[in-house]
Amino acid sequence: MYTIGIDVGGTNLKAGLVNEAFEIVDAKKMPLVWESPEKFAGDLCALATALVEKNGISRDQVQYIGMGVPGVVDVNKGTIVKTVNIPIRNMPVAEMIQRSWDIPVYLGNDADCAALGEFYHFANKDIESLILVTLGTGVGTGIILNGKILRGFNGCAGEGGHMVIVSGGEQCTCGRRGCWERYASASGLIRLTRIAMEQNRSSAMWHVAEGRLEQVDGRTAFTAAREGDDAAKEVVDQYLTYLAEGITNLVNLLQPEVVCIGGGVSNEADEALLFPLQKKVEALRYDKDADRHTLLAKAHLGNDAGIIGAALLGRE
Ligand SMILES: [Zn+2]
Repeated sequence: MYTIGIDVGGTNLKAGLVNEAFEIVDAKKMPLVWESPEKFAGDLCALATALVEKNGISRDQVQYIGMGVPGVVDVNKGTIVKTVNIPIRNMPVAEMIQRSWDIPVYLGNDADCAALGEFYHFANKDIESLILVTLGTGVGTGIILNGKILRGFNGCAGEGGHMVIVSGGEQCTCGRRGCWERYASASGLIRLTRIAMEQNRSSAMWHVAEGRLEQVDGRTAFTAAREGDDAAKEVVDQYLTYLAEGITNLVNLLQPEVVCIGGGVSNEADEALLFPLQKKVEALRYDKDADRHTLLAKAHLGNDAGIIGAALLGRE
């Protein structure tokens, strides 16, 4: 038997045929072009159909479809309440897919799905709890406690990126100031890097960015720090401190067995990112005397986490 996992991204729809070990057998993607709810559901069905046909399997061999959405979903009704990137409001997507695919359709938030994927594939299968922190344009968090996604009574829980860590700090898209994601996301790192460059005209960061602030990305400061540049080392240290503050908040509040770090920034070498971050969290955490401590690790499924996690929704 198989399942189909669908990952609705910002610009693409991706679908994967997933086997019983929850590994991706084959995947297909198409650009996300928004016209109407009918077209959207039709595209999802077309992707699923293309996958089974290409792999020579019948629809009877697919147990269910799981779908991760960047926004709020109503798990019980099978509706997308709203999304951040497309103008969907209260769309009964499960029912619409079931008009052409008569199997169960499960919905989840995309960050939750990615966390579920990492949770299932984490090397130590005995764990019961894991938080995935994804560092991208924002900071996404998916929280798995007692083997289940923490959704909150209305489906909106798990927004760790919007914990305030600097009262009155940087303006956030959510309306508050000083949210964790304004500091710990790749965008936050880029902002810190640019500020430091303007204050240090001789920093190697200028060389790395080819003399242009617009060229700065999430790697600029890490690269210059590796070359020994002091200003860049300070940027990296400041960034890791912000990251550690939020992670420590999550650890103190929920004590998960594992916190995984994913997203583009997490590709930096362990010596530059994971090890100093572990040290900082170790120094900040409340439970220094406890026998067992949360393991801070790198996520390892990368972009596949969304599809695998969506395919796991029916199993949860
Ligand atoms: Zn916010």
